[in-house]
Amino acid sequence: MFLAEPHRFVIDVQDAMWAMPQGASGAGPGAGVVRGYRFAQHPGVSRLVLDLEAEASLVREALGGARAPGLQFDLAARGPFAAAAPAPSQPARASGRRTVVIDAGHGGRDPGAVGRTLGLHEKEVVLDTALKLRDVLEQRGQYRVVLTRDADRYVEHAERVRISRDANADLFISIHADANANAEACGASVYTVNERGARRGQAMLGDTIDLGATPVRGQARDVLVDLFQRETTNRSAQFAEIVIPRLGAVAPLLRNTHRSANLYVLLAPDVPAVLIETGFLTNAEDERRLSRPAERAAMARAIADAADAYFAAPQLYAQGALKPARFSGYVD
Ligand SMILES: [Zn+2]
Repeated sequence: MFLAEPHRFVIDVQDAMWAMPQGASGAGPGAGVVRGYRFAQHPGVSRLVLDLEAEASLVREALGGARAPGLQFDLAARGPFAAAAPAPSQPARASGRRTVVIDAGHGGRDPGAVGRTLGLHEKEVVLDTALKLRDVLEQRGQYRVVLTRDADRYVEHAERVRISRDANADLFISIHADANANAEACGASVYTVNERGARRGQAMLGDTIDLGATPVRGQARDVLVDLFQRETTNRSAQFAEIVIPRLGAVAPLLRNTHRSANLYVLLAPDVPAVLIETGFLTNAEDERRLSRPAERAAMARAIADAADAYFAAPQLYAQGALKPARFSGYVD
């Protein structure tokens, strides 16, 4: 229902519980006519409020089916705001800076792959690339960057995922270098999580999410978790497809470059995540390339360009600002 003074749009779902990473209540920025959103738990009712910039009306509404319960809707401003507001398909920067978590693989007692020709250590190559990527992103002024490690230190996989979720990351980029028994194998590649990994990730969400006083169980929980996961998997794949050609412009690519795997650091079910293998330390030419700071800087710029393109994409912006999948209530 719409309410005035101030203008807002309120959705109440009876006999439902919020299952959000922030817990049973929270708030966030909006886009277009929606200034922001907030949600809270009231006795017997889960309430979502969209605070509006102006009077608005409901122009589209769609209910999901039994297998994929959900509610989608579009709001449009009425009156003067409609003329002044940017078209909904235009990217905007209303919600401020994006949080990117950069994860340099290995570290400390775990050197990762070791170069066959020059003896390069993966943990050093990827840390330097991660630091360069941080610098490039910070120079661009529209990112908040969090590193899982900024020194030669071992960090547990679970800790890397925790850092990413605690930072409320919009994107998680893990940086590695490959090794293979076949010295001919060469080139960069990008991984996203596969279906088996996605199932492990779902278990992780169930363990860590604050489900409130009456936890959502069974089918209801599965549906909610599935909504998170599907959105995240799609967005991870979108970033992978954006970053691959840009990496290809500065480095050779492994054939079949976008691969999917059951990799632990990619499993946070609510953070889009990719793992970039920058090249093979077991290949003489790749190792020589990765030993050069200028080549590592070129890869960092390519990844930063991909982040710019990813967040500039209008539909991605709208998803990031409003996170529609996360609005979907479920009535058991
Ligand atoms: Zn590695």
